[in-house]
Amino acid sequence: MKVSKFGGSSVANGEQIRKVFNIIQSDKSRKIVVVSAPGKRFSDDVKTTDLLIALATSYLKNGEANQELEAVVDRYREIANQLELGEDIVNEIEADFIGRLALSEDAERFIDCIKAGGEDNNAKLIAHFFQSQGVAASYINPQDAGLLVSNEIGNAQVLQESYDNLYKLRDKEEVIVFPGFFGYSPEGNLVTFPRGGSDITGAILAAAIKADLYENFTDVDSVYSVNPTIVENPNEITELTYKEMRELSYAGFGVFHEEALAPAFRASIPVCVKNTNNPEARGTMIVAERKPNGKPVVGIASDNGFLNIYVEKYLMNREIGFGRKLLQILEEEGLSYEHTPSGIDSINVILRGNQLSEAKEEQLLDRIQTELQTDKVSIERNIALIMIVGEAMNKTIGVAAKAVAAIQNANVNIAMINQGSSEVSMMFGVKEVDVNKAVKSIYEAFFG
Ligand code: ASP
Repeated sequence: MKVSKFGGSSVANGEQIRKVFNIIQSDKSRKIVVVSAPGKRFSDDVKTTDLLIALATSYLKNGEANQELEAVVDRYREIANQLELGEDIVNEIEADFIGRLALSEDAERFIDCIKAGGEDNNAKLIAHFFQSQGVAASYINPQDAGLLVSNEIGNAQVLQESYDNLYKLRDKEEVIVFPGFFGYSPEGNLVTFPRGGSDITGAILAAAIKADLYENFTDVDSVYSVNPTIVENPNEITELTYKEMRELSYAGFGVFHEEALAPAFRASIPVCVKNTNNPEARGTMIVAERKPNGKPVVGIASDNGFLNIYVEKYLMNREIGFGRKLLQILEEEGLSYEHTPSGIDSINVILRGNQLSEAKEEQLLDRIQTELQTDKVSIERNIALIMIVGEAMNKTIGVAAKAVAAIQNANVNIAMINQGSSEVSMMFGVKEVDVNKAVKSIYEAFFG
């Protein structure tokens, strides 16, 4: 049994949904279809989820949002027309959104509820289309199926009992069309996962029904070894491990939501990333373990927007509690840190830059300086992290040397190196302006 999840671009219009239908029809083991809300039809299109956020926000502000509502309903009308489904389903969808707008929830919950309507109505529409083609299919609501989550709006976490509840979906004869992106709290509140969260729904379902495979359909033939907007025609990855995928998605691989694979990972369910527009391509398998293929590096990722707090104090290594006090200041300032590479008399703390406003920056530096009596403390913004990933890297001599030489060849200064505790990655900090140059050069060194 397979769970097949289709992302926004795979269900953005009628033509795409016909492809989804053909994919499901071509393999009887594809029993559960998880769908996103209609995504972008062209590069500067707006995703339905964003239209819905605009709808909810405008309604909260003005008490009405007819234009925004029309824009949303039009997206579904277009799809229904392309699939020759008639007006009834469109009226049903419009009524659903009007019903959601009438809910008197607090603002955050209200927005969450409207947002989730994107996938919910798309799932209804797609199930309806399958039925119109003579296929036994049904839409299933996450509440009826028992997908229970914590009550954290926009950041729901699956609750353990969901797995037993959802296991029962195995008994259904028909194809199940399940909306991604949200579940229900035990008190009955609708709660969404973080953005991109339909991947999470798919992984939960795959784990719950003990699927043989979790297929994640998107619009690329495979996961690439490097961002294809930085390097033209990069190497396709045929197989990678969960750990490798986790490191790569942390550092900017947009293929998956970072947490998405956790449920599939814990249940050891293999994942296959495939292309809706080219389902014959074999895609990329993500597995618990893979055989070494002689290449130490599987992928190179990079992400912008970090900042580096540099703290220096003579004899820091002898001062008991220095690290704790430093991190405590960050905690008290509500800052979450990413990495802390250190030397004997210095420590770098890397954070996501958007957490710290310029105004708060002064205060933070001041506190570190006075409370820890440091010799030097500074902040550098616009840092990019480059992550070189591969499970076999640790056992291969010369990977670091090759990476450093490649960065040097690109004439880029390394602000920070962190190999640290991860066995599968090596990380370099460079200035954002230099990152693409460095990534290209590292790619050449390992894959060129
Ligand atoms: N539609 C939601 C989003 O755009 C969730 C998803 O597509 O996975 O974030």
